[in-house]
Amino acid sequence: MKIDNRKINYLRISITDRCNFNCRYCVPKEPSLQVSHDEVASYEEILQLVDIAVDLGITKVRITGGEPFVRKGILGFLEKLCQIKKLNDISITTNASLLNKEKLQRLWDMGITRLNFSLDTLKADKFSYITGRDKFSRVFDTIHIARDIGFSPIKINVVVLKGINDDEIADLAAISIDQPFQIRFIEYMPMGNSNIDNDQQVLTPYIKQTIESKFGELIPVTKSFKDGPAKKYKIKNSKGEVGFITPVSQHFCDECNRLRLTAQGRLRPCLLDDYEKNILTPLRDGASKEELTAIMHKVIIDKPSSHHLGYANNKIISQMSSIGG
Ligand code: SAM
Ligand code: SF4
Repeated sequence: MKIDNRKINYLRISITDRCNFNCRYCVPKEPSLQVSHDEVASYEEILQLVDIAVDLGITKVRITGGEPFVRKGILGFLEKLCQIKKLNDISITTNASLLNKEKLQRLWDMGITRLNFSLDTLKADKFSYITGRDKFSRVFDTIHIARDIGFSPIKINVVVLKGINDDEIADLAAISIDQPFQIRFIEYMPMGNSNIDNDQQVLTPYIKQTIESKFGELIPVTKSFKDGPAKKYKIKNSKGEVGFITPVSQHFCDECNRLRLTAQGRLRPCLLDDYEKNILTPLRDGASKEELTAIMHKVIIDKPSSHHLGYANNKIISQMSSIGG
């Protein structure tokens, strides 16, 4: 479906608001009560909603969370998702800590070939400080196992924060020299009441300049349809790429093709706007496929033309871990 010249073909599904990590920039200082199991859309319900979404033009789906792999039965669910013929691109964003070679191989065998991982530091102690979990080696090794199996592209999301990991910008970018990974620097979005102060936000111009002062001018890379909003570059002679996601310094609303489904079955046309529409309750109350299609259609039509998140000046209520980033 098209709205304001934006083709809405990408659905991001948060299958759980739960996570085994406590990333300082994601989880609120005072976590809200966890949603009960009954309030979370079942896999069957999610599949029913995807079925409606594909009829409205969705062809790409990303599974996210919370941490998607904390939810039981995820592999069986993904297998069913992979059988939906009109979907031509299924990917997952994960902290990697609950994956191993066997599970990665199953993902690969069912046809999922690309993954996004989150890794904000190369130092084990800092990893524990940021995430609250001593899992650096597990995560680092899992990313390399995924590479060996053949997943491509592998994107590594980094949220840069002043006083925490801004001293590692060049080291993280340097991974892309020898590894075929896209290191994606994401600007911290002041969501919910996180443990990060607004003045710890680091914007892309500074990150890019830091990389260039070490490795020379970055070479722009043309986007492919799978790239999403990242602006891509290469360090000269590198195997991988560096990407920048700039929701704050330069929003990309005019090319945003996304719709989100939260773990509680709420449709959200914009990550950074608190408007959402509950589609799970009508589904459970027996709404027909036509009625559910009309609800989804209306949410797409109502997609805001742009968000209002500015330079570290306003926090919006929602918490990232429940919407799915
Ligand atoms: N648990 C998975 C993970 O960490 O990859 C998937 C969910 S997480 C919410 C998705 C992405 O959102 C992660 O890459 C994370 O770094 C990013 N993220 C979380 N909170 C953020 C924030 N406040 N600003 C920018 N990115 C954030
Ligand atoms: Fe969990 Fe991902 Fe949020 Fe970290 S960023 S707390 S891993 S949902």
